[in-house]
Amino acid sequence: MKGVLLITGAGRGIGAATARIAAARGYAVGVNYRVDAASAEGVVDAIRGAGGTAAAIPGDVSLEADVVRMFDTCHQALGPLTALVNNAGVVDQKARVEDYSAARLERMFAINVVGSILCAREAVRRMSTARGGPGGAIVNVSSVAAKLGSSGEYVDYAAAKAAVDTFTIGLAREVVGEGIRVNAVRPGIVRTGIHASGGQPDRLERIAPLVPMQRPGEPDEIAHAILWLLSDEASYVTGSLLDVSGGR
Ligand code: NAP
Repeated sequence: MKGVLLITGAGRGIGAATARIAAARGYAVGVNYRVDAASAEGVVDAIRGAGGTAAAIPGDVSLEADVVRMFDTCHQALGPLTALVNNAGVVDQKARVEDYSAARLERMFAINVVGSILCAREAVRRMSTARGGPGGAIVNVSSVAAKLGSSGEYVDYAAAKAAVDTFTIGLAREVVGEGIRVNAVRPGIVRTGIHASGGQPDRLERIAPLVPMQRPGEPDEIAHAILWLLSDEASYVTGSLLDVSGGR
């Protein structure tokens, strides 16, 4: 076994792709979800059907008690944690800043930023060699929105992902002597349901011509970058932000 990997928001999209490929490479995978238990169970069943090890782990990353329980459940089901992918994330409806509500901003930062930091906290508490842990790796799923700004669409999301980038650099340097590497991937536009969830089901077709490669990315292409950063092949990589964006 390669280690125990918890992936937040792994019932669909990039998280689900990462879970399937990680399991095929020998990780025992904790498949976290918030509400869509059926999808998460489907990912777990597919992994087990292929001879891998996985467990569905419920919990909302923006709620501290849920986060602690997620990590405890993962430990009980699969054993000591060695890797975390902070993948759970949300967008909101397309809107200009002048029309934002405080409730929108609170949700955006609670899930994308506070959730990622709380999960990283729990991972560090369990993996840090300074606390008797085995060491490990964390990958945060950011976005190229952090550098593009997403004007007229969702500047709040872009700003939240920029916070994830800065958190990645800061945490990486904080735990560098404790056996933990921390990096981020910044996907460009990827073929998942997130665009429809933000009320823009045609977003892939609209944005694809703006991408130098002239196409959206596939979830597996993001997963491969995440798994490289988690792997020993990336042993000298920490505090890095890896754009996986077709050149955008
Ligand atoms: P997706 O298909 O919409 O899936 C999002 C996942 O996150 C779902 O499994 C969802 O679980 C989970 N989730 C949402 N809120 C959660 C919470 N509070 N606690 C736990 N899980 C939660 O999204 P995706 O496109 O794969 O995106 C994955 C990550 O990539 C996100 O961080 C996103 O910002 C980033 N990203 C995506 C793109 C893109 O074009 N797709 C581009 C750049 C970055 P439930 O269904 O159970 O709620």
